[in-house]
Amino acid sequence: MSRRTGRPEPARNAEALRLDGVRKVHGTGEAAVTALDGVSLGLAAGSFTAVMGPSGSGKSTLLRCAAGLDRPDSGTVVVDGEEMTGGDETALTKFRRRRIGFVFQHYNLLPTLTVAQNTVLPLRLAGRRVDRERAREILAQVGLGDRLGHFPDQLSGGQRQRVAIARALVTEPGVVFADEPTGALDTRSARDVLRLLREAARLHGRTVVMVTHDPVAASYADSVLFLADGRLAGRMAEPTVDAVAERLAHLGDRAGADAESGV
Ligand code: ADP
Ligand code: MG
Repeated sequence: MSRRTGRPEPARNAEALRLDGVRKVHGTGEAAVTALDGVSLGLAAGSFTAVMGPSGSGKSTLLRCAAGLDRPDSGTVVVDGEEMTGGDETALTKFRRRRIGFVFQHYNLLPTLTVAQNTVLPLRLAGRRVDRERAREILAQVGLGDRLGHFPDQLSGGQRQRVAIARALVTEPGVVFADEPTGALDTRSARDVLRLLREAARLHGRTVVMVTHDPVAASYADSVLFLADGRLAGRMAEPTVDAVAERLAHLGDRAGADAESGV
């Protein structure tokens, strides 16, 4: 109901995202790779969580399964108390459009659409009323209120990512996922993007889950989940840059040792 009125009413302490025993294998036969090996976790509404781990540890797969972009082979995903993994493809798409926002590393804006058109696209796809004022309002929030008629190729990388964030927030989703959203950005643009994601959680009650390999980015989050070899390998509350870097180095050691021993 809050989604339609445009007034967020975050249910504090409620669980916005729950994964139980999520398993995902990519490929078949000899080429099969177990990307997620039984991941269970719960995230509180309005929290901002970073997901870290060595390359290939399953971070993107975790995000895609949690966001309904990929289907787990087994296990369940529950968003705002509703199971996402139950229905068919159409039901899943509807669910995703209503409840989930996604930010990609390389923005994924449509080059032939203006900033305003890109931003309200999820509303159109969901068959919801498209309100130019809504576009203006959400773009103003990300500091681009004066760029409505521009095209993506007229913007910097940081500006494009801010449009992508506006697009992810426009439907007022319960959960926003971002996969390495600062991976292609300079330090200053990265900081803007991180502040916006933190604001989405703190001011607007969205639950934000961000994959990053950067301890500085992770330090913007309330907590960090560490993944190694498709499994959860730890959690850190109130992360600092140094503590995260230290922990990550040890995860890296283990993954490196496994690789050397041919595991
Ligand atoms: P990360 O984001 O942590 O780097 P991914 O989730 O992308 O990890 O990948 C986890 C594992 O699954 C890796 O071994 C990767 O090679 C494999 N993988 C990911 N996507 C696919 C795919 N579409 N087909 C085959 N293997 C994949
Ligand atoms: Mg990845």
